[in-house]
Amino acid sequence: MKLIETRGNDGHHPSEVGFADAILSPLSSFGGLYSPAELPSIKPEKLLGFTSYKKLAQQILASFHLDVSDIFIKQALDLYDGYDDPVNPVPVVKIRDNIFVCELYHGPTRAFKDMALQPFGTILSSIARQRNENYLVLAATSGDTGPAALETFKNRPSIKFVCLYPEGGTSDVQRLQMITEDAANIKVIGIRGVFDDAQTALKYLLGSTDFKATLQGQGILLSAANSVNIGRIIFQMIYHVHSYLELVRENEIHPGDKIYLSVPSGNFGNALAAYYAMKMGLPIEKIIIASNNNNVLTEFIRTGKYDIKDRNVVTTTSPAMDILKSSNIERVLFDLYGNKRTAELMHQLDTRHCYELSKEEHAQLSRIFAADYCSDEQGRQIIRQELENGYLMDPHTATCFKANTSCAKKDIPIVVFSTAEWTKFSSITAGAMTGRDDYHDIDALKYISETFNQDIPEIITGLFKKPVKQKTIIEKEHIESEVMAFLKN
Ligand SMILES: *Cc1c(COP(=O)(O)O)cnc(C)c1O
Repeated sequence: MKLIETRGNDGHHPSEVGFADAILSPLSSFGGLYSPAELPSIKPEKLLGFTSYKKLAQQILASFHLDVSDIFIKQALDLYDGYDDPVNPVPVVKIRDNIFVCELYHGPTRAFKDMALQPFGTILSSIARQRNENYLVLAATSGDTGPAALETFKNRPSIKFVCLYPEGGTSDVQRLQMITEDAANIKVIGIRGVFDDAQTALKYLLGSTDFKATLQGQGILLSAANSVNIGRIIFQMIYHVHSYLELVRENEIHPGDKIYLSVPSGNFGNALAAYYAMKMGLPIEKIIIASNNNNVLTEFIRTGKYDIKDRNVVTTTSPAMDILKSSNIERVLFDLYGNKRTAELMHQLDTRHCYELSKEEHAQLSRIFAADYCSDEQGRQIIRQELENGYLMDPHTATCFKANTSCAKKDIPIVVFSTAEWTKFSSITAGAMTGRDDYHDIDALKYISETFNQDIPEIITGLFKKPVKQKTIIEKEHIESEVMAFLKN
């Protein structure tokens, strides 16, 4: 697979790169993103014989002809063995007629970030070692990326990993998942500020030539584990294909029948992977994009106007989706309208904080996507209603149930992609049942598990007893020196 740049080529960067280069050095011309030059096609009916998720993944990834050795890919996929059910790490659960949930959270940190970051981390480390290179990988997190990235990078050769999080801006469980991690090659830094401060500091470091030069002096290259890395997206298409095949195997659909995919969206990685799966030939009626009150994507998909001029991020009960600049949309624009137009639209977004598609362009977009958003109160109602019917979900997943009612015009199956286990957002889940909004996670976990007879995995309960190993909390001005001090050790 060759990757090309969404905003065109500046004559300094290579005009196309292989997968390995795109994941190690994701920065491309004019601030664009590496995207597949073309995608292979798949025939779902030919894939039906798979015996495990891993086998299916191997078969699909083989069709991409990645420039990464089969052994590295196999080692990466072996990490799914650590999921609750190694044969089927992403179970598709039937809720009622035509409503299914694909649970993407049965991995080590109980959120769907593991699906991509687990394999991504080992591949990155394997390639770095093969090339005899050492990397500093940086990430800023609002809660789910940090734990998943720490889990994948800890103790990996050739990698040092630093994770920035906003102190007080995550759930108790998310914070504990990070600060109880213990390995010599990782460092967790709490920032006094909000997620945006951590994110801005990260972008500054990634773009700083001085910082890069200092690192190079120590023989270290710089990379990032953010959600625009194509090395993450590639592992996400597989579960969309898998969920379709599961419906065929369960006799819910015949091969060739169309279904809806419903995705709780933030940076649009999950939804982009669904779009790529559709382009590869998966029979999808539409991809439903669910948002919370940060509903810029809803407006964009409904009207063709991406407008963040008068918007500020609002804090919601689905914090992983509290985003205004949804980065992976750029790859959809590129795929539909080409690099010139993408560069133009992204320039407008940077300078005027707004861009608008033409009528024809918007018509193209709305043949693929439909969208709606869900307020916190509506989300709580959905959690309550569905739990009374016997299914417990987290607040991100709940936004899909709202979007489904307005977006699914046809009476055909919908698969909702559930991105977190309720245990990661237990205070909101418990609050949805009782009306309280002052839960500590530990009390909320206890309440839900006892009242509704739900299991809590040991990796969550154990967190409250683990010693804190990562105690650094600093002002954002001191991030660079803190990172340098960590590298010296
Ligand atoms: C990251 C995340 C999302 C958003 O996924 P994108 O791929 O960025 O759109 C949704 N829900 C949860 C729980 C997440 O952690």
